[in-house]
Amino acid sequence: MLLDTFGRRAVDLRVSLTDRCNLRCGYCMPEEGLPWLPKAELLTDAEVVRLVTLAVGELGVREVRFTGGEPLLRPGLPGILAACAALEPRPDLSLTTNGIGLARTAPALKAAGLDRINVSLDTLDPVTFRDLTRRDRHADVLAGLAAADAAGLRPVKLNTVLLRGRNDHEAADLLSWSIDRGYQLRFIEQMPLDAQHGWDRAQMVGAEEILARLGERFGLTPEPDGQRGAAPAERWLVDGGPATVGVIASVTRPFCRACDRTRLTADGQVRNCLFATGETDLRAALRGGADDRELAELWRKAMWGKSAGAGIDDPSFLQPDRPMSAIGG
Ligand code: SAM
Ligand code: SF4
Repeated sequence: MLLDTFGRRAVDLRVSLTDRCNLRCGYCMPEEGLPWLPKAELLTDAEVVRLVTLAVGELGVREVRFTGGEPLLRPGLPGILAACAALEPRPDLSLTTNGIGLARTAPALKAAGLDRINVSLDTLDPVTFRDLTRRDRHADVLAGLAAADAAGLRPVKLNTVLLRGRNDHEAADLLSWSIDRGYQLRFIEQMPLDAQHGWDRAQMVGAEEILARLGERFGLTPEPDGQRGAAPAERWLVDGGPATVGVIASVTRPFCRACDRTRLTADGQVRNCLFATGETDLRAALRGGADDRELAELWRKAMWGKSAGAGIDDPSFLQPDRPMSAIGG
């Protein structure tokens, strides 16, 4: 098992498949992109599968989410999914994506074993989309969402980051649009994980403000028997339900005490937290000939050292060197 000194057990593995992306969301990457990881440093498909197999078979991982960068840019994704779906016990398999390319690939991903999908969408307006992502791909994302739903990758979840003066006026419209289509919307507070270090606490649109904006149009009640558990999103029933809306308030209402995550970067580093400042190099060990027992021991040790909390709101908070796109959001 992957335990830490605070009694938490990591059962949810986030695997980044690439640090590259075809969008340039301002809260994530600069316009010119980033110096991408060299190909030789990326785990191969077989290495990814070997480490996921170890995590599921030996370390108690029960859910695997693939992310990036943009995971749909990884050519081997269907093969990796199929190999993970054949594991015993079969892990729950999900994907976080910007949705570009999904219109074409959703049925094949479903057939390979993908269970669920989260698509990031910050606006309903193509012009705002171009402003936020510096790419003219809004229609591709909408087509991707529809294809994911049609392929049965349900529940389709939407992730939205609100930015002051850019898309925060769209909160209620995004919710009503999502409810109409049966998508589950979750707002994520903007976190200090951009490569440019441009995050400004004072500018962040926090949970309270998001809920106040939604409350102008909808009646919100906390979900009954609202055991948040390890789920990062707090959920509210919209107008009495059954529709819900989630808010992931990593900054203002952190959920570190219930965190059940462990992370593997595209270049084979284990991170015990999104905000960890240290990493454990499984790639070097694996390529140096370590056996499964040795790799498992390294992974356990990495998790044992997990801090109590990320402390983003603490004055002593240090932003990690790796940006979100290279950690895997
Ligand atoms: N490219 C894929 C996507 O956008 O869904 C997967 C990777 S992306 C890093 C994963 C999620 O992180 C997205 O929902 C994105 O909106 C979110 N994200 C990126 N930078 C963020 C930040 N600074 N604060 C909060 N969320 C962020
Ligand atoms: Fe790409 Fe996702 Fe980062 Fe946007 S948030 S730039 S889609 S990795």
